[in-house]
Amino acid sequence: MTLFHNNPDALLDVLIIGGGPAGMSAALVLGRARRSVLVIDEALPRHRVTKESHGFLTRDGVSPSELRRVAREQIAAYPTVSFVQTAAVEASGEDGNFNVTTTEGKVYRGRKLLFAAGMKDLPMEIDGLKEVYGSSAFVCPYCDGWEMQDRALAIIAGGEFALHLTKTVSGWSSDLALFTNGFSDWEEGVKESIEQRGIPVYESPIRRIESTRGKVRSIVLEDGTEVERTGIFFAPRLAPGTDLPKAMGCETEENGSMIVDEFKKSNIPGIYGAGDGASRMYQVAASVAAGSIAAAMMNSELLESEWQERG
Ligand SMILES: Cc1cc2nc3c(=O)[nH]c(=O)nc-3n(C[C@H](O)[C@H](O)[C@H](O)COP(=O)(O)OP(=O)(O)OC[C@H]3O[C@@H](n4cnc5c(N)ncnc54)[C@H](O)[C@@H]3O)c2cc1C
Repeated sequence: MTLFHNNPDALLDVLIIGGGPAGMSAALVLGRARRSVLVIDEALPRHRVTKESHGFLTRDGVSPSELRRVAREQIAAYPTVSFVQTAAVEASGEDGNFNVTTTEGKVYRGRKLLFAAGMKDLPMEIDGLKEVYGSSAFVCPYCDGWEMQDRALAIIAGGEFALHLTKTVSGWSSDLALFTNGFSDWEEGVKESIEQRGIPVYESPIRRIESTRGKVRSIVLEDGTEVERTGIFFAPRLAPGTDLPKAMGCETEENGSMIVDEFKKSNIPGIYGAGDGASRMYQVAASVAAGSIAAAMMNSELLESEWQERG
């Protein structure tokens, strides 16, 4: 084992791209397994817009920054784990010897590579949505539905996802209105099935969202209609935190997230993916679990090759 602190040119056991819940969970497990680890983290986690993170056992309601602070404090107990705050911009190599280059042109080497770079929000096209995002407009009912329960809620989504999101949010409020923002190409019967349940469907494009200090007041449509609402759940437009896995030949879903197996392995030997960037379950608990699984599997592969070398 070579310590990164002592020799920055060393071949480390694991390089982790991304230091959100998934990457830090992997770093913790690997640190406890006495592995040399470098976490390269731009430090722009997706949930930074929200004040409280919910649903992670023992940490319900904690702020994302506090979650991060405690994680970093606990990982600091393991001296073989280091962090650098920067972006990974290039990656190459193969199982046993990967290279990752950062924005500054610094190259780090690792035997295994874990991508835990999450997903990022693409710029919001609806005027006024950015101002309420994380305060009274959210994307995940499991994360923020409790706080929004029984409010007059707007669902902003089109296509197949509109029905799914409306059905899901109906568990938290019966006062719902669906805004498709211009989408009207429904499969037969879908729109009617929503309306039959007393949920109005507005297809006109949204002109803007009116709000006061982060609190939604109404949705104004291009056709002049204004609908009072006090909260929003919407379908975000997302892209992967990094395109490096794809550039290295990893298989990806249509939305760019990595395809990994139950052990978080990609199709490329030595490259793993964990968290939002390799899943459709966008939750802290799921990301932490994925990071932990990936760490155990990478450590297991490293132990196996070390075992063979000793024989
Ligand atoms: C508004 C909002 C509210 C949410 N609320 C909750 C909640 O209450 N409960 C819950 O369980 N979940 C919640 N989530 C979801 C939760 O935030 C994510 O599931 C979780 O953060 C995913 O963890 P991750 O480690 O995969 O990615 P992230 O937390 O996004 O972390 C990825 C990290 O990788 C870094 N990175 C990306 N690209 C690079 C690169 N090229 N080089 C270096 N670093 C890079 C990023 O800067 C970031 O620091 C919420 C999400 C949003 C958007």
